[in-house]
Amino acid sequence: MLVPALSMILAAAAPATPAPASPAPAHVEAPAPPSDGFHYQTLRVAEGVHLIYRLDALRVPAEGNVTVIEQADGLVVVDAGGSPVGGRRIIEQIRRFSSKPVKVVIVTHWHGDHNLGVPAFRAAWPGVRVVAAANTGRDLGTVAAKFYKDYGDAFRPTGPYAQKKADDVNLTLGERRTRAQLAADAPLIAQAYDEVKGAPSVDQTFAERLDLPDAKAPVEVLYLGNANTEGDAVVWLPRQKVLVTGDIVVSPHPFGTDSYPEHWVQVLKQLRAYDFKVLIPGHGPIEHDRAYLDALIALIEDIRGQVTPLAKAGLSLEQVRAKVNFDAEYPRFVSDPFYRRFFDRFFTRPMVENAFKEARGETISQ
Ligand SMILES: [Zn+2]
Repeated sequence: MLVPALSMILAAAAPATPAPASPAPAHVEAPAPPSDGFHYQTLRVAEGVHLIYRLDALRVPAEGNVTVIEQADGLVVVDAGGSPVGGRRIIEQIRRFSSKPVKVVIVTHWHGDHNLGVPAFRAAWPGVRVVAAANTGRDLGTVAAKFYKDYGDAFRPTGPYAQKKADDVNLTLGERRTRAQLAADAPLIAQAYDEVKGAPSVDQTFAERLDLPDAKAPVEVLYLGNANTEGDAVVWLPRQKVLVTGDIVVSPHPFGTDSYPEHWVQVLKQLRAYDFKVLIPGHGPIEHDRAYLDALIALIEDIRGQVTPLAKAGLSLEQVRAKVNFDAEYPRFVSDPFYRRFFDRFFTRPMVENAFKEARGETISQ
């Protein structure tokens, strides 16, 4: 996903057209959570391959899926959680099913919800090697280092704002419950983000491909082109036929703030050609077929199909925005009006701008 912090997105999401006032109480209690937002579970998805995930992928704090691959001399981990606390919780999960050390952490892209847990891995296994695509290695040292410098302070206003929204009787009950959950979780999240002191460092980068050989579980780490960011790593396990996509694939809906529509579609089509049995997305449940990939391809092609001719005809970005319409896409990705606003703000809106820039030959920056 995600744009750097779903938590801040939740805090900033613009109010929708108020729903008709309902006889809701003035204050909504947060639903009783199974645990806090850093609660992980583990699922064995293939021989020697485990997925560590959270039941509610959209719950704040944003924390990406984690894949653990067992090789003869140690574990290879894809992504490390979105906070030092998340990283430690993931390590607890790993130690429940393996006594082997983690020898490699692959960072799929620079967004912190996938890599701010790296310091916990370095603390647990000082010899661990952190790997990323070349562009991600650079972006971690530049844009991410700046963004995550004062992460706890940046998050802190989120709690009071979320409580204000939770108390707003003009909002839908669904939105109020989501906001109330965030308000309840916010102090723990702010405390967790206070531990973040910038973006993690990388020990090794690769241009297009890095092989981690093993008799039973060889790992191919690939950069297939710009997609969700300019440095997305994909991991392919040819024996187990497991494909780990990072945020090139995110469900229930994608995020597109730092994305490259034209090349993202091409990368999705490359992923589609893999003979996978299991696809592990950056967030959300595993996929066993190509249906969701096809939906993403159709969605991005729809955006490009509408935007490109208008941009090439010389319309301004605002004129393009006034003409495009994605009503046909919403039912596949979002049903709740609250998340529809998210989808617009963090996918269709930035993707229209990115497609506009591509059509005009302008640079998309991270
Ligand atoms: Zn993410």
